[in-house]
Amino acid sequence: MEKWPIGVFTSIDAGLGVKLEVAHELHVPTIQLHAPAPQTRTAQHANAFLARLKDLQITLTAVFGGFEGESYADIPTVSRTVGLVPRATRAARTQEMKEIADFARLLHCDVVALHLGFITHDRASGDYAEIVAVTRDLCDHCQRNGQDLHLETGQETAAGLLQFLEDVQRGNLFVNFDPANMILYGTGEPIDALRQVGAYVHSVHCKDATWAARPGEEWGAEVPLGQGAVGMENYLRTLHELGYTGPLTIEREIPQEPARQKAEISHAINLLAQLRTKILAV
Ligand code: MG
Repeated sequence: MEKWPIGVFTSIDAGLGVKLEVAHELHVPTIQLHAPAPQTRTAQHANAFLARLKDLQITLTAVFGGFEGESYADIPTVSRTVGLVPRATRAARTQEMKEIADFARLLHCDVVALHLGFITHDRASGDYAEIVAVTRDLCDHCQRNGQDLHLETGQETAAGLLQFLEDVQRGNLFVNFDPANMILYGTGEPIDALRQVGAYVHSVHCKDATWAARPGEEWGAEVPLGQGAVGMENYLRTLHELGYTGPLTIEREIPQEPARQKAEISHAINLLAQLRTKILAV
């Protein structure tokens, strides 16, 4: 595969990504996929989806886990509902995440990713140790499938995430870096964060955002690529310095406005293609 192929975050019947048809219409060569609903995660559906990907000449680069009951309404709601951290759903979601990894294997996909949720910063707490153990268990399941596990960034500071990765101690645990999330959650300046966790970054989102008036207490705003505070040229130059060669996966989560979503993704593709030419030419 060429360096930095453009990608887009897609969905079949769950999650906030665009439909596969949109990726095709925009001539995007790679996708990440939000895991479909449980009833769709069958061998039959996997084979049908694989045939469509082959037909459209699209490469699947990662399958993202997501769960019923998750809400990104505001930061406290994320903390309460997202990922494997909420205790009431932890065991069931860990099991479901393994099933999602198995479905990804049916799609011949060797990367599985998710938001773990808000991990406590108190390394001495029992809860921290339990999340480390759950993550090891999930990594080991993925290892048996020949897969890597990527953690989406944003809910921790870069230093907190680095500490967590080192505590889990698994060779197939990496990072899906999302610069906009650092701004949305108010967890740190994204380029500094990228440099800190750079050795672990094996996939990325291209997304942009503006800071909240009170970062960390309220959401920043997701905006079209190039119009936020990330600084796309600086972002791509830093990825280049770090030796990142994987897909540039555009994520734009406004499924309630499909026409605008498609137009903004089209614009994002043009921006990334221009920057890619500029940066890789020298
Ligand atoms: Mg993201």
